[in-house]
Amino acid sequence: MKLPNHVALANLPTRIEYLSRFSKEVGANIYIKRDDFTGGEFSGNKVRKLEFAVQEALDRGCNTLITCGGIQSNHCRATAAVAARLGLKSVLVLRNNDTEVKPDGNYFIDKVLGADVRIISADEYKNERKEIMEKIQEECKAKGDKAYIIPEGASNYIGNFGYFKCMEEIKSQEEELGIVFDTIVIAVGSGGTYAGLQLANKVLNLNKKILGVNVCDTADFFKDRIYEIMGDSKEYLGLDVELHREEINIIDGYVGRGYALSRPEEIEFIKHFARTEGIILDPVYTGKGLYGLSSELKEGNLEDLGNILFIHTGGLYGLFPVRELFEN
Ligand SMILES: *Cc1c(COP(=O)(O)O)cnc(C)c1O
Repeated sequence: MKLPNHVALANLPTRIEYLSRFSKEVGANIYIKRDDFTGGEFSGNKVRKLEFAVQEALDRGCNTLITCGGIQSNHCRATAAVAARLGLKSVLVLRNNDTEVKPDGNYFIDKVLGADVRIISADEYKNERKEIMEKIQEECKAKGDKAYIIPEGASNYIGNFGYFKCMEEIKSQEEELGIVFDTIVIAVGSGGTYAGLQLANKVLNLNKKILGVNVCDTADFFKDRIYEIMGDSKEYLGLDVELHREEINIIDGYVGRGYALSRPEEIEFIKHFARTEGIILDPVYTGKGLYGLSSELKEGNLEDLGNILFIHTGGLYGLFPVRELFEN
């Protein structure tokens, strides 16, 4: 099977490391894949999806990338970085009720990279972000630019192939390392990372268990969403594979106070993990994801997961705007 073309941007393959002290602590065999090392400016999972989405933009002759996300969106920051790296322009539609918010974390990096930032309210974001991005696309056209719209998280039929390709990478690393990963665990925010991994899991017959920990919405919401994205990619490539919604595994219960809001136990976990393994998780995704896995393992809620591979999907810049939560 041939994947669509992509622009090579990320630093790949990313390393896989064994978490010896953390594994002992939770009584399981846990490895970590360092997708936080896909790049400095690109750091995290979004650049893998952007490699495919941006190729489509270039194929269509576009010179501007438009996308959207929360004010601390890693996806938007990665899009701004990719655009600047390729000599394209970027327009970011960021969700924040305070439109005067001081640039910090990812939003600060967006500014350094020269992205054109438009801040909209949570309501506008929820109800009309698509129309707002289309209006910006028209604006670009009037200026003689051609803009390509990337949906939230690049979680769609095309961005999805970033994590299909990542699964192929994991498979070849398994051969190199002489290890089989029975379970892959990730945080789920817009569903594309899960969808790409699971599509590859099915197409390549790998029989792995992919376990997602949702950081917003509900397990049901993501099962629908992931199933939909997988179906769209399947259709796009004309793949002959059977997909089942009930094979999508999401551990619900770790959204906590809501998207991008932290509970003290999550912050404590991030600090503890940093001091145990020397690896820093982010408060919005990976901190909740690994905290969820760790809690479920400690409570004995999970069947034997065999060798577990947790993918560190990045997000470090998101730590800075919430620095006061870490003071003490
Ligand atoms: C976006 C993001 C995720 C979630 O990936 P989705 O494909 O949106 O589900 C996980 N971790 C980090 C750090 C992210 O930025």
